[in-house]
Amino acid sequence: MKKLDLVVPCFNEEDSIPLFYEEIKKVRNELRININIYFINDGSSDRSLEIMKDLSFKNEWVNYLSFSRNFGKEAAMLAGLEASTGDYVTIMDVDLQDPPSLLGEMVRLIEEEGYDVVGTRRVTRKGEPPIRSFFARMFYRIINKMSKVEMVDGARDYRLMTRQVVNSILTLKEYNRYSKGLFSFVGFKTKWLEFENVERVAGETKWSFWKLFLYAIDGIVAFSTAPLVISAMIGLLFCLIAFVLIIVIIVKTLAFGDPTSGWPSLVCIIFMVSGVQLLTLGVIGEYLSKMYMEVKKRPIYIVKETNLEKYDD
Ligand code: UDP
Ligand code: MG
Repeated sequence: MKKLDLVVPCFNEEDSIPLFYEEIKKVRNELRININIYFINDGSSDRSLEIMKDLSFKNEWVNYLSFSRNFGKEAAMLAGLEASTGDYVTIMDVDLQDPPSLLGEMVRLIEEEGYDVVGTRRVTRKGEPPIRSFFARMFYRIINKMSKVEMVDGARDYRLMTRQVVNSILTLKEYNRYSKGLFSFVGFKTKWLEFENVERVAGETKWSFWKLFLYAIDGIVAFSTAPLVISAMIGLLFCLIAFVLIIVIIVKTLAFGDPTSGWPSLVCIIFMVSGVQLLTLGVIGEYLSKMYMEVKKRPIYIVKETNLEKYDD
């Protein structure tokens, strides 16, 4: 029987974990496929770890891996993919926003129709603040213009992948991980399933607007160098404007003499040009800071405890 591993990042999810487990148990009995859960405890400060350990103790198909602190969902996903051994692997939120009822269809598409990846996307953003939806749409429009790697609007991390796809993702060793981009970078034959947005069963979202904004910038920096080109373009444009202005002023002075005026406009120009310079420096700095973290080669996560033998030293 084929083995399907569910990678489940959890950060302070004590209320959701038992509900998630019950749902998966149901699907597991219905589907008759060897489903295994890999809970990744991303430095929770509540009882999440205790609950996972307890479940893993009682069921040999439930595993846990616990970080030494909060490393973020990207790190948790990577740890899960590295720990998994199944023929198929999927990443799932523990809050049941990724409907387990789709698993059967996802496996069928891979086994019978020859897809390598079955991704899911939300077609509605019901229950989300409208301003957040607006910025999300803007983000996808911008990043798809800037980057060669296509990012699908509404795509979730919930996706079923074959072992071959997982191994390809694991060859991407970068420190600044932006999974949506990495998934689409590796390619493979992908089928998209669509579903209506489901609200969390328990707890609250860990993503503030500010965190999402920073994540969006990470995505752009990780998958596009367009901001650098745009900076250079603005620089070029300003040089051209300055050149034209110089000629205008010389001609004007020769023709009409040189009355001393224009101090306010000069101040405005200085402000604007130095603003653009700082902005450009900021853009370069953003890339430089990513490189800085990248060359340090720090581990992406640190495991504190797990039931998986792979980590025994
Ligand atoms: N998560 C995590 N580490 C974090 C933040 C979130 O492992 O630092 C997990 C969280 O427990 C959940 C999943 O990532 O299982 C998605 O988080 P959330 O539901 O808050 O995000 P949303 O669904 O609102 O995008
Ligand atoms: Mg969620």
